[in-house]
Amino acid sequence: MLLMRVCAGCGGPGPSPCGRCRAGMRAVGEMAPPEPLTGLWAAFAYVGAGRELLARLKYHNQRSSVRWLASAMAAALPPGLPAVALTWAPTSPQRRRRRGFDQAELLARALGREVGLPVVSLLKRVDAAGQTGRSRRQRSCAPEFSYRRPPPASVLLVDDVITTGATLQAAATTLIRAGSERVCAVVAGTTPLPSPQQPPGAVNMRTHNSTPAEREPQWT
Ligand SMILES: [Zn+2]
Repeated sequence: MLLMRVCAGCGGPGPSPCGRCRAGMRAVGEMAPPEPLTGLWAAFAYVGAGRELLARLKYHNQRSSVRWLASAMAAALPPGLPAVALTWAPTSPQRRRRRGFDQAELLARALGREVGLPVVSLLKRVDAAGQTGRSRRQRSCAPEFSYRRPPPASVLLVDDVITTGATLQAAATTLIRAGSERVCAVVAGTTPLPSPQQPPGAVNMRTHNSTPAEREPQWT
């Protein structure tokens, strides 16, 4: 029996994403990195088909677009990136258990194959439930990481979506405290959209408040 290929962007027949969804996605590229990151690149804006592809991967385990996502992330990266290894910003242990996978890890492993760099598990998300002595607000706002092993000097961090930047900032801070000298990041989708008033490459990063894409969707 032939399995019909289905686009994870629109649910229609064809490759994932299909040509129509690809045409509707807005490429982004280089962004202004929030400290302590020294570089940040995004494949596309987290709207429309781009949002749908990532949401269906994250919440419905639709992995048919992972290879395409990895190649789009690789295309967003500049040539000659000095990173010697890739790692990812892990999701919380509860979410990983519930979903059975970590979408950031899937993307990092596919991207590692794409760019020919090793993918190493360097970070561990500190379980929010175990963070005693912190207020509920502190627990819900900033994710915390610890490191599993000393990281290499230059690391490329991978995540599925950047919203406020707080997750990547926390992950990069942990890697630098553990000994990395340079941490760059690449994401598939970005919610802070480049504004036409700004020079190319400059994107306003919100540094606090809500993180809509990290909430579970209402429509499951
Ligand atoms: Zn489609």
